[in-house]
Amino acid sequence: MIYLDNAATTRMAPEVLDAMLPFFADNYGNPSTIYGLGAKARRAVAEAREHVSALMGAKPEEIYFTSGGTEADNWAIKAVAEAYTDKGKHIITTKIEHHAVLHTCKWLERQGFEVTYLDVDKDGLVHVEDVREALRPDTILISVMFANNEIGTIEPIAEIGALAHEHNILFHTDAVQAFGQIPVDVKAMNVDLLSASAHKVNGPKGVGCLYIRSDVKIRSFLHGGAQERSRRAGTENVPGIVGFGEAARRAARILPEKQKREQSLRDYLIDRLESEVPWCRLNGHRSRRLPGNVNFSFSFVEGESLLIRLDMEGICVSSGSACTSGSLDPSHVLLAIGLKHEEAHGSLRFTLSEENTKEELDTVVEAVKKTVDLLRQMSPLYEDFLKNNKSERPEELLDKEA
Ligand SMILES: *Cc1c(COP(=O)(O)O)cnc(C)c1O
Repeated sequence: MIYLDNAATTRMAPEVLDAMLPFFADNYGNPSTIYGLGAKARRAVAEAREHVSALMGAKPEEIYFTSGGTEADNWAIKAVAEAYTDKGKHIITTKIEHHAVLHTCKWLERQGFEVTYLDVDKDGLVHVEDVREALRPDTILISVMFANNEIGTIEPIAEIGALAHEHNILFHTDAVQAFGQIPVDVKAMNVDLLSASAHKVNGPKGVGCLYIRSDVKIRSFLHGGAQERSRRAGTENVPGIVGFGEAARRAARILPEKQKREQSLRDYLIDRLESEVPWCRLNGHRSRRLPGNVNFSFSFVEGESLLIRLDMEGICVSSGSACTSGSLDPSHVLLAIGLKHEEAHGSLRFTLSEENTKEELDTVVEAVKKTVDLLRQMSPLYEDFLKNNKSERPEELLDKEA
């Protein structure tokens, strides 16, 4: 099997599993108890908090463990909305956020909040000037993702953070795709709230965190016991948190090497697909791009059909609508960067890890070439296109043919 869907989830690292196992078995104590067994769990949670905070330049006491990225996004946005209603009811975000942010904002609109969804450019970049223009006296929160999960574009987070602080507005970033993949520093980047998730960095599923800057006052997410400094009650997911900590420690250790390796694999795959598959286009920014992300649209084919055929050859990838699989709506991200519906439907996302090899990518390129060709042979659109004088194609695609 060739796994190229690391933006959906990652394989748990063996050392992460090893670190977790004792906390499913012998070390089952409740961290809130005072005898030795509980203290063991408590120390392990504290250690994990240090590893996670260190990887984003935060203080350990600014990390609040959650059930994942989705919960962190919900908490950040809803709690700021509630705490700052007296100041205003306006929130700024973008059209390309993860649904955990978008659907939370939609819900808030129904509660009487106003949300500005910023456009992005054709590469998926948010322009700082657009954020500035959207500011209003009643703006209470700016939420812009660190890097996009579909097209890999890395947003100008430090610049947006500086703008937010210049205007005394809180800044949240969904950094689920960036944390552990590229350098993240909440202090240098003026981030007040940041969401991260363990399973996107070789940790376990069902655990993540929200970083809340120490001077930000927002309400608790869950009410009950005093866990997570009374802001997120409930007995801690000790094995999960320990796994998250170990994953963060591992990510910190390998980050520069991992980044370099993925980037070179990424560029190799991009080069080969661009030069060997006619009528395709790269989606997302060419250089401001996550190290492991490759996203292409292939004209005259359905991404889903391509995905299924690649799966039969043991290759795992995502298509433009995979995030909402079951739904046939094209990806909101691909539409936001200006793709037509049929181009969005013909897209495929390959997300690499440091474990992939060039040989695997060679196999993938051959399989993509063969499959795209086969699907095009069956496509009436392609047949029409070959007959007519090729004038209906997008500019970028025309260039390819030469
Ligand atoms: C995966 C992902 C999430 C959701 O995280 P979970 O831990 O799976 O809830 C949120 N935002 C982005 C950008 C993601 O890629």
